[in-house]
Amino acid sequence: MSSGTVYLVGAGPGDLGLVTFRARELIATAEVLVYDYLVHPDLLGWCRPDCEKIYVGKRPHLHALPQEEIEKLLVTKARAGKRIVRLKGGDPLVFGRGGEEARTLAKDGIAFEIVPGVTAALAAGAYAGIPLTHRNTSSALIFLTGHEDPQKHQLQIDWRSYGALKNVTLAIYMGMGHLRQILGELITGGLAPDTPAAVVQWASLGRQRSVVGTAATLADLAEKNQLGAPAIIFVGEVVRNHTAIDWFEQLPLFGRRVAITRTREQASELRAKLEGLGAEVLELPLIQVTKKINPQTRDDVFAEFGSYDWLVFTSANGVRFFFDEFLGKFTDVRSLGLIRIACVGEATAKALGEFHLKADFFPAVATADALAAELSAGGLDSAKMLVVTGNLNRDTLVKKLEEARAIVDCFPVYQTEKTDLSADPAAEDFRARGADAILFASSSAVESFVAQAGALALAPGAKRPLAGSIGPQTSEAMKKAGMPVDFAAKTPGLDALIEALVKKLKH
Ligand code: SAH
Repeated sequence: MSSGTVYLVGAGPGDLGLVTFRARELIATAEVLVYDYLVHPDLLGWCRPDCEKIYVGKRPHLHALPQEEIEKLLVTKARAGKRIVRLKGGDPLVFGRGGEEARTLAKDGIAFEIVPGVTAALAAGAYAGIPLTHRNTSSALIFLTGHEDPQKHQLQIDWRSYGALKNVTLAIYMGMGHLRQILGELITGGLAPDTPAAVVQWASLGRQRSVVGTAATLADLAEKNQLGAPAIIFVGEVVRNHTAIDWFEQLPLFGRRVAITRTREQASELRAKLEGLGAEVLELPLIQVTKKINPQTRDDVFAEFGSYDWLVFTSANGVRFFFDEFLGKFTDVRSLGLIRIACVGEATAKALGEFHLKADFFPAVATADALAAELSAGGLDSAKMLVVTGNLNRDTLVKKLEEARAIVDCFPVYQTEKTDLSADPAAEDFRARGADAILFASSSAVESFVAQAGALALAPGAKRPLAGSIGPQTSEAMKKAGMPVDFAAKTPGLDALIEALVKKLKH
């Protein structure tokens, strides 16, 4: 068997948008993914379902797998003919031991490619509004390591000699464990104690925190604000620009933790919108939606498909699972014929748009009730309607349509189930620290939240989140469960929910 290839890939500093196209392409096609602690967990979702994912750790003081073992693993997997992505936070060749891994691969005759990534210092500069060079005050940028782990065998840095340099920016990685000593040594070496200095933790992520002071005050400030690893320490005149060009920390939801409760598949759009506003997002997928179709019902429905006047969709999931089946059987979308299509709202219409279809009808307000009421307003005299739904919340719709004298067939294509979050890391984080807000986008998520009260119980001192609702049905479910509705979308929908959230939480 010919040997496989190892891709040494930088995953960037955290924000998914900062991953390169090349990295994403390689992750999506990898057969084996070997990754570290600072890699964003959502990246794993880009992998093929059959990709073998191997976590090799590397928290400070806590190696899941020693370096030699990692290198051995890469070689063994490559010899087995695999396509391997070795994913590292930031850039693989900046304080990441990527160079050592590449040497071993070269020595063993394994093909490899190196894909650079946005290294943490660049991200910290951009997201904290600190230009790393400046025409008049900083003509050099130096990346240094404070080597947090004293047990590691590494060169000792002569901090004093760096303190003596003029017109430079120092960007120090892994320095939080020795922040006070490092700054002290720099000052002893000649650095003016009033030189501006900053710490930027979790750069580019919603949980980013920063403090700005001087070489003399920074250690106290960081301690007072409880900043720790992973962080970049900047020292140099350029730090002065922070106040003028800070943009990220000015976003309306910056510093806010928002829990979202949609299914994993549906969470990403909401997550991206909230992160775009600066929020830290906690995904608590309280429900999961799986395709579930009774083959007999499907065959019956498709056999008389030509006789329906209306096709009614109540959710984007319904649209997707329906067309999965429909196109599986008929292959050509024109087989829909002249049937008219109704849908409940924007998200459902968007899902239809993916098939280049437009709804003939959708109600002014995006609820199943409004859909039924408006559609039946003029009477539906014997119109034959096919309602595509899930296993929940379809009874009122069908009843109302029938009251308007429609002949209704129901075609359930998915089921909504509660998940079990007790072992989920995001739920653990939620229990420990709470959140500023929690968003509910369906009554089933509310019901699951109540059912999982144990798995989501807040620890003493954790922040109790304000609860937000996407629409009347969800609000109703919240009230029924005895939960307050602290804010709600003005008109049902994600964007209006976000608007209400921002209004509630804005600084
Ligand atoms: N190869 C990585 C660095 C790995 S060393 C890179 O190019 O970025 C780990 C150190 O990187 C951390 O201790 C911290 O100093 C820094 N780091 C990584 N991600 C960071 C982030 N999001 N914000 C601030 N510092 C980060």
